[in-house]
Amino acid sequence: MDFADFADRLADVEAESADLETTALVATLLADADEDLPVVVRLLLGRVVPAWDSTTLDVGPRLCHEALARAAGPNVTADDVDDRLAEEGEIGTVAESLDTGGQRGLDAFGASAPDPLTVAEVNDRLGDLAAADGSGSQDRKVDVLFGLFNRADPLSARYLARLVLSEMRIGVGEGTIRDAVAEAFDVPVEAVERALQVTNDYGAVAVRARDEGEAGLADVDLSVGRPVRAMLAQTGTAADALEAWEAVAVETKYDGARVQVHHDPADGTAVYSRNMADVTDALPELVESVEERVAVPVILDGEAIAVDDAGDPLPFQEVLRRFRRKHDVARMRDEVGVELRAFDCLHADGTDLLDAPLRERRERLGEVLSTGVSPLAITDDPDAIAAREADALDADHEGIMLKDPDSTYTPGKRGRNWLKRKPDVETLDLVVTGAEWGEGRRANHLGTFLLSARDGADDAFATIGKVATGVSDERLAELSETLEPLIRRQDGTEVEIEPSVVFEVGYEEIQESPTYESGYALRFPRFVAVREDKGPADADSLDRIERLARE
Ligand code: AMP
Repeated sequence: MDFADFADRLADVEAESADLETTALVATLLADADEDLPVVVRLLLGRVVPAWDSTTLDVGPRLCHEALARAAGPNVTADDVDDRLAEEGEIGTVAESLDTGGQRGLDAFGASAPDPLTVAEVNDRLGDLAAADGSGSQDRKVDVLFGLFNRADPLSARYLARLVLSEMRIGVGEGTIRDAVAEAFDVPVEAVERALQVTNDYGAVAVRARDEGEAGLADVDLSVGRPVRAMLAQTGTAADALEAWEAVAVETKYDGARVQVHHDPADGTAVYSRNMADVTDALPELVESVEERVAVPVILDGEAIAVDDAGDPLPFQEVLRRFRRKHDVARMRDEVGVELRAFDCLHADGTDLLDAPLRERRERLGEVLSTGVSPLAITDDPDAIAAREADALDADHEGIMLKDPDSTYTPGKRGRNWLKRKPDVETLDLVVTGAEWGEGRRANHLGTFLLSARDGADDAFATIGKVATGVSDERLAELSETLEPLIRRQDGTEVEIEPSVVFEVGYEEIQESPTYESGYALRFPRFVAVREDKGPADADSLDRIERLARE
């Protein structure tokens, strides 16, 4: 396809404001693109390389302005281009007005008009720009750009200038391309979407949709070394998780930065950030640890966390300092160590696992990587979930993630199969008015605590719930010591306790319930702390609980 023809089409697309019409125009362009299809798709998105490729053109405004000025003739300087840009506000309009192609008729030498610029040729030259490196590369880049502008008609110059400066601005986003591919090649939008999530290569997906249809799109494979979009989480409660799924996979939520590790023993290791930037060089110890421990090709998903000398987690800003590091990596590494906590496995030894349930992916993860795996518990017991949360918080992690153990890995989706458990918005201070003796290992301790709120008049308390979770064995022993002398009556394993000790308790929700005297119950109560500084008279009142329940 001639670049001039492509530029005409871009102008039509840019002039169209209605989404459906834009998609239709793009679809026709894709259908007409023939062998230029992958390039046309990338250029439409203003990209010179696929999204997963971190190669950059490294062409700044000044360099582009110099090339434009040279192509515009002896009366125009780069400063003039700067000035015009300040007036127009947009480089495309400036490039279009400069008559850069005016130099091209080298008729003075008797040559005929040069061949028209094609889309393929522009793509090749842009590749040359990206590859130019080292001394003299700036001059070479100006030469290459000049060569392009010098053969461009005004409209082509408009889009070329925008392309090299990554300012395409024609109203075509990734969603438009997805819909246009579906429309042009008569395949379902969902099939295109899925293939895009797996490959991140809009050009390759368009070609597959055209040449192999829906079945071809369903068949795209992961490739070790090419990053996949990360699966994302929504906020949710433990109650949500227990209601939605048969069992809940509970994991620590680490306060670090998302990483995807691609490792092939034959080919090396690459680490990508959440937005698919290549951060391999900044995190050598992740590379080393994976290379030491993993013997088969894998794609691992996980969190990079910063740790101190004792191996305890540091705040995530510390990890970010490492991520951004280009120089002095070795010195930084001494200051802040980074470790991998892998929580998913997308590919292991030749097998793609995106469509396998989380349980199976975790099994494979455990097989390919023996240490550095985020621990996982699968349970349907709310107490076990709360206990995991208490452990995670105790170890200074951010909290817990709740995942459906039977769910597949959906790249790029912020779905309901992964929930980040909402931190407690508020806590209540409640009086311990009863307890139960524990069982088994905890038989000598009071285990479950009955909690009450202040009820109007002095010394009156109304029960509102029980808390058993979030208390460590050590803490239980202490609590038993404090509470035993306060036991008023005992009935089987249940005891009544003189109101004296105040617990700070987290919860997910307050519900109306006939179970307790207050008429309310706490959903998912969790022990936070003993309020040593508070007595029963300072505990929360039923009035406050009524107010909170109505919010
Ligand atoms: P947010 O960034 O608040 O949307 O929370 C999701 C992020 O938590 C993910 O992108 C990960 O970077 C991070 N994370 C930490 N631990 C886990 C885990 N066990 N599973 C999934 N994501 C995790």
